[in-house]
Amino acid sequence: MTGLPALEAALQRDLALLQYPKRAWVPERTTPDGQPILDVLIVGGGQGGLATAAALRREKVLNILVVDRNPPDRAGPWLNFARMNTLRTPKHLTGPDMGIPNLTIQAWWEAQHGEGSWAQMGLVPKESWAAYLAWYRRMLDLPVRAETELTALRWDDEADAFAATVRHGGEDEVLHARRVVLATGIEGSGDWHVPSFIADALPARRYAHTRWDIDFDALAGKRVAVLGAGASAFDNAAVALERGAAAVDLFFRRDKLVNVNAYRWAEFVGFLRHVGDLDDATRWKFIRKILRMGQLPPTDTFERARKHDAFTLHPSSPWTAVRDTPQGVVITTPKGEHTCDFVIAGTGFITDLSLRPELAELREHIVLWSERYTPPAGEEHPDLARHPYLGPNFEFLPRTGDTPWVSHVYNYTFGCLLSRGFGGASISGMKYSIPRLVGGITRSLFAEDSDAHYQSLCDYAVEEFQ
Ligand SMILES: Cc1cc2nc3c(=O)[nH]c(=O)nc-3n(C[C@H](O)[C@H](O)[C@H](O)COP(=O)(O)OP(=O)(O)OC[C@H]3O[C@@H](n4cnc5c(N)ncnc54)[C@H](O)[C@@H]3O)c2cc1C
Repeated sequence: MTGLPALEAALQRDLALLQYPKRAWVPERTTPDGQPILDVLIVGGGQGGLATAAALRREKVLNILVVDRNPPDRAGPWLNFARMNTLRTPKHLTGPDMGIPNLTIQAWWEAQHGEGSWAQMGLVPKESWAAYLAWYRRMLDLPVRAETELTALRWDDEADAFAATVRHGGEDEVLHARRVVLATGIEGSGDWHVPSFIADALPARRYAHTRWDIDFDALAGKRVAVLGAGASAFDNAAVALERGAAAVDLFFRRDKLVNVNAYRWAEFVGFLRHVGDLDDATRWKFIRKILRMGQLPPTDTFERARKHDAFTLHPSSPWTAVRDTPQGVVITTPKGEHTCDFVIAGTGFITDLSLRPELAELREHIVLWSERYTPPAGEEHPDLARHPYLGPNFEFLPRTGDTPWVSHVYNYTFGCLLSRGFGGASISGMKYSIPRLVGGITRSLFAEDSDAHYQSLCDYAVEEFQ
């Protein structure tokens, strides 16, 4: 065998060689009316959800389910709204592979494109990352229910488990689970955000957020203004230019583009593995600094837009107001006014658990950083203050003692950044964050079932010899 079949055979052998300990160990549970209770429900079938499921199965926590609202193998941004050509992170970042070489994206790529092909590649094409994740799901036979959305989550005292309402094909169903992992994406602890001065002033036909569906062909020959200088702002500017926009003007607050990537600095063991172990003040200091250093487009993304004559950068040009006129959208900046036909908001997302419908019944019980830490004057950061104050294994912490079950929900979204560093919603942190997340879940289940395990020890009577 050669190519992918050979790799797949080698991978199956790796998995067989690494099976110890083999025994499934989590006692089965049902509700008082006999409904099955999952050990773990994972919400989100992207890289985070899949890697969590894979690692749990490796720890023989087998009664699990992943739900995702998208069609099969179309979770996350990659095939939906990501408008870059390649990943932004360097290709050598490993993460979902659990340390198994034959499960890495490099092995998968080389098995298909031949030896040396990886060395020749710059960054990983985004479609290839999505295809790798689909292969990963298939190879590990992960239980993913697609086109299934978690709409509500509440604690069911009688079942001693969560009741999770999921919608599939217009039908609602209630699943029960002992533990829940929210791997709901980069915006999973809040939502994508259009500043109100834009949303309140312009009709819907005049603007869009980079996360939204945009009819770029309809922008051919038009004047487009982009607010923001992060990677998505540049990606969308480039697509508008490639589709024939007459002019694309990109506006940003700083006096020059960020050109140093704090995320590349952060990719070393100490930070990735242990920033979450530091005290509150030090964590706040590090993460606030990283966010204030700012986001930037990868070089090729920057060049992709800059090569167009119709592209103009506007530094030191925060928008102070916009208004809709018959001539177009008039944008006011400290440098004057600019008129365009369409606005693209590259304004990212905000953290705010109250924006998550699925958490409507839980959020009042969840501790936030604003309740645990007050930064020194001048070091405030409103969005970080809204981050959930997570425990050592990404679990939410209860605001009061009478809702201990809050800690049975694990936040593996970007909302974990301040508490745990690079965890959910980034490839960079997966190598260390997945084992920490899964280790917390197995510890919590074992501790909760320790009486049952002790009883099984007392009942253990397998004779070694006759
Ligand atoms: C445009 C873009 C480009 C990025 N590029 C990179 C990069 O190059 N390198 C990198 O390291 N990181 C990158 N990131 C950051 C991060 O790695 C990605 O966001 C990645 O998709 C995170 O994986 P995830 O599994 O945590 O979330 P996702 O891949 O977003 O998967 C979460 C899934 O959960 C689903 N979901 C959410 N809520 C529910 C619900 N209630 N019920 C059911 N399903 C739900 C979502 O629809 C989604 O399919 C990028 C992010 C974006 C937005």
